Amino acid sequence: MPERSANIGVVGLAVMGSNLARNLASREGNTVAVFNRSWARTETLITEHPEAGFLAARTYDEFAASLAAPRTAIIMVQAGAGTDAVIDELVRVFEPGDIIVDGGNANFHDTIRREKALREAGLHFVGTGISGGEEGALHGPSIMPGGSAESYRTLGPILASIAAKAPDGEPCVTHVGTDGAGHFVKMVHNGIEYADMQLIAEAYDLIRRGTGRTPAEIADIFAGWNAGELESYLIEITAEVLRQADAATGRPLVDVIVDQAAAKGTGAWTVQNALDLGVPVSGIAEAVFARSLSSKPAQREAAAGLPGPSGWTAPDPDAFIEDVRQALYASKIIAYSQGFDEIVAGAEQFSWSIDKGAIARIWRAGCIIRAGFLGRIAEAYADSPGLVALVLAPFFRDVVEGAQDAWRRVVVAAAQAGIPAPAFSSSLAYYDGLRAARLPAALVQGQRDFFGAHTYRRVDREGTFHTLWSGDRSEIETAPSWH
Ligand code: NAP
Repeated sequence: MPERSANIGVVGLAVMGSNLARNLASREGNTVAVFNRSWARTETLITEHPEAGFLAARTYDEFAASLAAPRTAIIMVQAGAGTDAVIDELVRVFEPGDIIVDGGNANFHDTIRREKALREAGLHFVGTGISGGEEGALHGPSIMPGGSAESYRTLGPILASIAAKAPDGEPCVTHVGTDGAGHFVKMVHNGIEYADMQLIAEAYDLIRRGTGRTPAEIADIFAGWNAGELESYLIEITAEVLRQADAATGRPLVDVIVDQAAAKGTGAWTVQNALDLGVPVSGIAEAVFARSLSSKPAQREAAAGLPGPSGWTAPDPDAFIEDVRQALYASKIIAYSQGFDEIVAGAEQFSWSIDKGAIARIWRAGCIIRAGFLGRIAEAYADSPGLVALVLAPFFRDVVEGAQDAWRRVVVAAAQAGIPAPAFSSSLAYYDGLRAARLPAALVQGQRDFFGAHTYRRVDREGTFHTLWSGDRSEIETAPSWH
């Protein structure tokens, strides 16, 4: 046994793992064991950071021997096959009661599978979402762990020691739920991030094309917004990106960046799972599809000459900019509301007990979607834990009521100007759908019954009905098994 033993270990010392290991080592009471498949990364880390006092292992056996019981190790390697390979090695050298944490961006279905397999081997498996990128890993991320309550008793204080601190000092970590709950919530976090980024991008595009403001001028507008109710990390960095000039040409950097947005897949996962769960996350879906559309250069080039309006300018630029701000706020509320709906549906489907208010609280700092208004979401769920839609909370209802005229004007202007604003318009359509007393879904049910005898329910009587469309068009009540 080594002279000292570590209370926490990190496997995988690329940028995320080494930053997380340094963050852990910088906190009072932690001794950190480190291991990486290739020794070179370990050597670089311990050479560059002797102050961290890492216990560096060259083999998995050495790594296990350097950890105090119950051994607790965080895996930060390439998600997928890399994670499975590391888990197999840790299972070989760890003992029952030890805790294996996957801090990578795993698919929560994999996390459910892995947790089950490790539980059967007597080990705890904790799939944990970690948001905040490289900087967050080093200085304080928002952490979303799933897994057993028992493992959280050991792991919770360690994670709390490195998590970001919210404005009220609360660490941005909570035990989200069992098995895949943490990675599920991290997935939805990323989906909301896609929607938020797309909404901000649409706001920029509308202002630029509708008022002729330069990127630097729009940077000032965003900086101003960041001082108000839209205060958030994404608005803050948007101002910085728009202000940046290209060193080579002097042009605004945003104008020399190829306009094809890439994706790593968590946005698509959010939408795929929402489809399976039957939750309309239209804002997130539009954001994912907008990236897909942008990344089809051949199609876009071929379609570039298609007719459409051009040259629209806002009659009152300052009023239009204020309208866009309000439309952004209202659309953003819808995007978050839809994301929380997916969390509720996922919790129901997978039997997780998820505290929505706690999720809003741990997103207040450290993560990419951190924003002032997450405090309002936390308050809304604290006041009304059974809230059926975020937009029904008095605070958000008032915001949307105040913003809706501006929101409608912006969507109309976008359509008239031929400026694509899919996330703005779909959020408004969702809002109008949600609040509608009657939806044309009744007609859809009629169509379904016509061609497929799929039956329908009536507004005035219990039961399930089918109309004899090709005969005398009378109605028959169907057996309950037709539901
Ligand atoms: P990465 O590039 O995703 O992965 C590189 C690391 O994985 C290296 O340490 C590599 O070891 C190791 N690895 C790959 N296959 C392996 C295998 N079969 N066995 C053992 N080790 C293996 O690293 P990263 O960018 O630091 O990301 C780590 C994790 O964090 C990923 O899951 C990523 O998705 C996630 N991530 C999260 C955020 C965030 O904001 N939350 C940001 C970035 C990344 P070698 O050095 O030996 O090749």
